[in-house]
Amino acid sequence: MHGLSDERAAGGAEPLRASPRGRSLASIFAACGNPGCAMGWLRLWRSRRAPGFEGRWACSPECMGEMVTAAVRREMDRGGLQPHAHRLPMGLVLVEQGRLSPGQLRQALAGQRQAGEESDEMRRLGEWLVERGVVDEAALTRARSAQWNCPVLPLDGSSPEETAAVLPRFLAEAAGALPVRVAGGRLLYLAFAEGIDHSVSAAVEAMTGWNVIAGIAPDSEFRRAHRAYLEAPAPRAHFLEAGNSWLLARALARRIETVRPVESRLRRVHGWFWLRMWRRAPLGMPRCGDVEDLIGALGDSA
Ligand SMILES: [Zn+2]
Repeated sequence: MHGLSDERAAGGAEPLRASPRGRSLASIFAACGNPGCAMGWLRLWRSRRAPGFEGRWACSPECMGEMVTAAVRREMDRGGLQPHAHRLPMGLVLVEQGRLSPGQLRQALAGQRQAGEESDEMRRLGEWLVERGVVDEAALTRARSAQWNCPVLPLDGSSPEETAAVLPRFLAEAAGALPVRVAGGRLLYLAFAEGIDHSVSAAVEAMTGWNVIAGIAPDSEFRRAHRAYLEAPAPRAHFLEAGNSWLLARALARRIETVRPVESRLRRVHGWFWLRMWRRAPLGMPRCGDVEDLIGALGDSA
């Protein structure tokens, strides 16, 4: 029992804030995390050290299934998390910052349109301007940071080996995101090249418990560091596709029962459901061998 209270208090998504004595009492009388659990007081005798899910335990695989199903439903409802606020177009930001004259912007847009018609591939204005030497990369980076209202993150302090287990490769690649470093044990710098993906940012915050500072990194630095991150050793990851949310929840819960992590958490990132499982209490920088990820998606029939 003692081990249970330590692990759960250290690793739970909702840590118990009581005194050490209150904490151990709380763990002795802690109920199964499934609100609909039918075991009543008998569940106290069925308490299991693991697996843990979002700071709670389940008295049985059935109850774990119910808890994961509720979490999948919660994450499906989180769909509105796309605060793509009205941002100024890149061209106007550059004009406002004095990097581009209104005449140059008109020319660039016309040229880009023409190039787009010819090559059938409309390039983004910022990249297009950098390629033609109209603005430099530093100006583009500053304009993007103004556009997204976020800091510029230099990547010279980034270490893919250190941050390797923060974000699964699949999501890092799909979202163009790069964990840079942790400061003061509670701030994680997360870099993006073109723009901030708030869905990834929020998921990383929930998974790590750190405050995420999302920022824009210069294109060339980002490409180099991102490649190094994608090539660094990564935590074990599995993928699964399910026909509907109920089947998805069943599959996730089954995996939790197999791995028996001390803690696991679920977050949705766009169309993907990211389940992270910890073999040790999730404290500090995760290490590749201590975490395992499952990326779930709903099939077309969902
Ligand atoms: Zn139960």
